[in-house]
Amino acid sequence: MDRRKPLTPAAAHTVTPANSNTRVSTGRLPVAKTASSLPVRPGEAKPTNSNTRIAPARVRVPVAGPARPAAPEPNHGLNSERMRSALVARLRTQGIADERVLAAVQAIPRHRFVDEALASRAYEDAALPIGHGQTISQPWIVARMIAAARNGRELGKALEVGTGCGYQAAVLAGVAREVYSIERIKALHELARNRLRPFKLANVRLVFGDGMQGVPSAAPFDAIVVAAAGLKIPDALLQQLAVGGRLVAPEGGARQRLVMIERTGAQSWVRTELEPVRFVPLQSGVLL
Ligand code: SAH
Repeated sequence: MDRRKPLTPAAAHTVTPANSNTRVSTGRLPVAKTASSLPVRPGEAKPTNSNTRIAPARVRVPVAGPARPAAPEPNHGLNSERMRSALVARLRTQGIADERVLAAVQAIPRHRFVDEALASRAYEDAALPIGHGQTISQPWIVARMIAAARNGRELGKALEVGTGCGYQAAVLAGVAREVYSIERIKALHELARNRLRPFKLANVRLVFGDGMQGVPSAAPFDAIVVAAAGLKIPDALLQQLAVGGRLVAPEGGARQRLVMIERTGAQSWVRTELEPVRFVPLQSGVLL
């Protein structure tokens, strides 16, 4: 399934917010191990709502590992700590084995990223609407993408394309020293800013712009996760991946698949196809 692919240079562009996080990346990170992709699961494609997996994985993995500090807890009438524990336990049974990622999911109260009316559904493993025709990704997808992109490494810079409400950016903040998240819909960019504000995540930078161009001024990135599906993964993003880094993105139109691309050299990228998924479309340009 692997193929190598030559690329054209990316066009430069866009906005980057002030960078106040001065922790310095140790540069190129070594690849800790070989591709950790699950086997591709064929068939039983059952379209669901957006930003979800189509064929659920059923893999049991061992339980272990430390927790990270929790984000500020709202008094919401939901016992969200316990609900998140149940969500994390479920993610484990569904094959998510990266303890850093699970701890980050545990730490972030997902109900604070959706409307009040949907808060009671925030710990279901489902995508939920966030307005403007977009959705907050299913927790399994969020964990799956971040774990695949992380590949057990300490991440310096990570880029998310498609901030939406900011949930995945908040989870990423638990596993990367610096997170850039770009959104093309101004209202969602602002929504995410408001939703993230109470968490005071000093390592998250929100960018308004077309993520198909990436964020060249902050590149290279040790990990890139794309939360919307294009017919093809934009070359600009492949160019902004650090050598040894991984990009995880859905690819396709009506039928989509999660794709993982590892940059193995200045001009070499290795592609691995993961499971079928359904995401909202990656669109070019911005919406004011
Ligand atoms: N990451 C979000 C998911 C948001 S849904 C979460 O945590 O749940 C995907 C988002 O990608 C939408 O908000 C959509 O507007 C955005 N998007 C689509 N194309 C984009 C592009 N070219 N650049 C930036 N964002 C894009």
